[in-house]
Amino acid sequence: MTTVAAYAVPAAKAPLERTTVERRAVGEHDVLIDIKFAGICHSDIHQAREGWGEAIFPMVPGHEIAGVVSEVGPGVTRYRVGDRVGVGCMVDSCHECENCRAGREQYCTGSGMVGTYNALDKNGEPTYGGYSEKIVVDENYVVRIPDGLALDVAAPLLCAGITLYSPLKRWGAGPGKKVAVLGMGGLGHMGVKIAHALGAEVTVLSQSLRKKDDGLKLGADHYHATSDPKTFEELRGTFDLIVSTVSAPLDFNAYLSLLKTEGTLANVGAPEEPVALNLFSLLGGGKTLAGSMIGGIAETQEMLDFCAAHGIGAEIELIGAAEINEAYERVLNSDVRYRFVIDTATI
Ligand code: NAP
Ligand code: ZN
Repeated sequence: MTTVAAYAVPAAKAPLERTTVERRAVGEHDVLIDIKFAGICHSDIHQAREGWGEAIFPMVPGHEIAGVVSEVGPGVTRYRVGDRVGVGCMVDSCHECENCRAGREQYCTGSGMVGTYNALDKNGEPTYGGYSEKIVVDENYVVRIPDGLALDVAAPLLCAGITLYSPLKRWGAGPGKKVAVLGMGGLGHMGVKIAHALGAEVTVLSQSLRKKDDGLKLGADHYHATSDPKTFEELRGTFDLIVSTVSAPLDFNAYLSLLKTEGTLANVGAPEEPVALNLFSLLGGGKTLAGSMIGGIAETQEMLDFCAAHGIGAEIELIGAAEINEAYERVLNSDVRYRFVIDTATI
């Protein structure tokens, strides 16, 4: 066991404070990672506030982890000391069910995926995430960060990047396809970059035009404010695919009207309250409303390699650990451009 410094939420809705947590001894197939950077995902905030239901406290959030391997277990074959690596939203799963075998570990039907934090590992111990100095992870749940990607802008790819890459690929974003990204926050701005790199015609649907210049710079072809009712008249029947990254409940009926016939609205946002859906919004036009959760380990590696090849990292605001609480407030106010990343040397 190793004691490491961390930032933790002591109880639901309480501010984060500095503490220490224990990391398990490096096992046969484990790697010890010196964490360099950890992104702040809106999911960290939902869980720290118990917005998704009962959570485990103290909680060390953080599932956008970039660092360097500093020790490997005797059975480790994929990584060596000094390798640049990342860890995303899961640190384990059953390894055996149909989904795990198919590389969809995030949908493990055996034990369920073990979350990087706010979960219990196989020994029944709580897991603690990336707002800390070091973490011990089974090598099968670790990915390699390509040399061309700096670790600070790579960290957010481990959740925000894969969460957009996976549905964009699954629903065929590419040349000739009109794709809308709903919400221009941490996930949304990655969606703009990745959909553009895949060759799609990209539209941002944001609450206002405040971030329009940035959106166009990051690769969007069009940018519209959803606060303007004219947007819904102008864009009716336009998109092959809409990916919603919105963290709050939304009128999905209005957005389904923006799809072409047989278009798909893939939702990745995880609001704390249910939404109302009029099923007639799907019937006319044969539309699909779908969901997607992060991506598997092999797909996460594919995404990192794709991002490195296209020079894609996150747009980040690097902060010290003492600024995490303030950063949470800014994320809640849609005032993030576009991902806060913690320099873990400040912990
Ligand atoms: P974020 O940085 O806060 O971005 C969310 C964006 O949604 C905001 O920037 C804002 O964009 C828009 N928005 C917020 N409140 C809104 C409202 N009331 N009405 C309309 N638009 C609103 O959050 P994030 O880290 O990207 O995460 C987004 C959501 O995805 C969260 O719920 C998170 O838990 C979830 N998530 C899901 C997965 C998954 O695997 N499915 C993975 C990671 C995160 P504009 O300012 O442009 O309007
Ligand atoms: Zn996340």
